[in-house]
Amino acid sequence: MENLLVLTHADETGSALTRASLETVTAGLELAARLSAPLTIGIVATDATSAAAALSSTGARLLAVSGEAFSQSRYATDAAAAEALCRAANATIVLAPGSSRFTRVAAGVAHRLSGFVDTHITSLGGANIIEASRWFYRQRIEAVVSRDIRPWFLLLDAGTHAAFAGASGTAKIEEVAVQLPALRTTVSGFRAPQQDQQTIRPDAKMLLVAGAGWTKKQPDGQIHAAEAGELILGFLGATGASLGSSKSLVDQGGEGNSVLPFLTHLNQIGQTGSTPRHAKGLSTCCHGEEPHVVGWRFIADRRAISLDPNCGWTRGKADVVYVADAFPVMAKVNALLEAAKA
Ligand SMILES: Cc1cc2nc3c(=O)[nH]c(=O)nc-3n(C[C@H](O)[C@H](O)[C@H](O)COP(=O)(O)OP(=O)(O)OC[C@H]3O[C@@H](n4cnc5c(N)ncnc54)[C@H](O)[C@@H]3O)c2cc1C
Repeated sequence: MENLLVLTHADETGSALTRASLETVTAGLELAARLSAPLTIGIVATDATSAAAALSSTGARLLAVSGEAFSQSRYATDAAAAEALCRAANATIVLAPGSSRFTRVAAGVAHRLSGFVDTHITSLGGANIIEASRWFYRQRIEAVVSRDIRPWFLLLDAGTHAAFAGASGTAKIEEVAVQLPALRTTVSGFRAPQQDQQTIRPDAKMLLVAGAGWTKKQPDGQIHAAEAGELILGFLGATGASLGSSKSLVDQGGEGNSVLPFLTHLNQIGQTGSTPRHAKGLSTCCHGEEPHVVGWRFIADRRAISLDPNCGWTRGKADVVYVADAFPVMAKVNALLEAAKA
């Protein structure tokens, strides 16, 4: 019989679990039910009390590693916490969110326990055995993996399961003591862009993609890059959407052409970019070529605005295509969003 452990960690408040942790709880509950296996949830937090209360309705055994030392992400403390939780649970299967915090330590912890780790897991199937799915080659090939080696660590991609949301109640927490090594790293704080400067938002419902058309000569023979920037940022500000780009647009900076200053290669979607997960996507001034559209694999509802009635989007790649000039369309959309807010 397998012993399932779900590893979770708190967000920056130090007490509430991250959304990705709660998604992993859902995956753990489903797997435990299917295998009729006992489930333990391990919590890493400054104070695990409220996180445990939020998990009380799972019926799982709750273990916690808590204290000031675990309030910050740091390899030594996170690895020690995860190792202690795995040993205390005698885990054979460990599910953890693929957060930066756990992704950094999972391979090391698996090695300490003579186990094995697989990352970017998107689903867990199988009747009596565990079959973990992940995508390879830029999301083109889906592989189903099963292994005999234990403990087997599985890092789940965010957005692949619903976040657990049970009624909060009184929970019994078993505190697990951790023998910390000498700490050489002191976390002095975070430096991150302001929320409104951060345009990549993996949790957003919508993706707005900007293509190279925004910085090309328009019907009046002029380039309107500044106006394009205002329209795009206006839409992001009003909707909280995440911003993606075609490769052509972000490449233009290197070629000395007009660029949108808030775009970098991190925004690039596609074969050589990222493959985000959002409920809706709106492509603007982008041709919809295959190397770009392959990055839209996990966008459920796809719409595009392009001047070209023969663009790739109109050839079956988008659900709805508006053959129109994106400048006036987005200006109107932004005005409607402003009016709705007022
Ligand atoms: C190996 C390889 C890997 C690649 N990887 C990627 C990748 O990861 N991601 C990626 O994006 N590309 C990738 N590409 C490039 C890809 O093939 C395309 O060249 C690129 O996506 C095109 O970008 P675009 O549509 O923004 O630009 P363009 O092809 O220049 O299209 C601009 C579009 O904007 C429209 N337009 C212009 N003005 C307006 C307006 N006012 N209103 C509405 N529409 C307007 C035009 O009609 C046109 O359709 C890759 C290519 C190769 C060979």
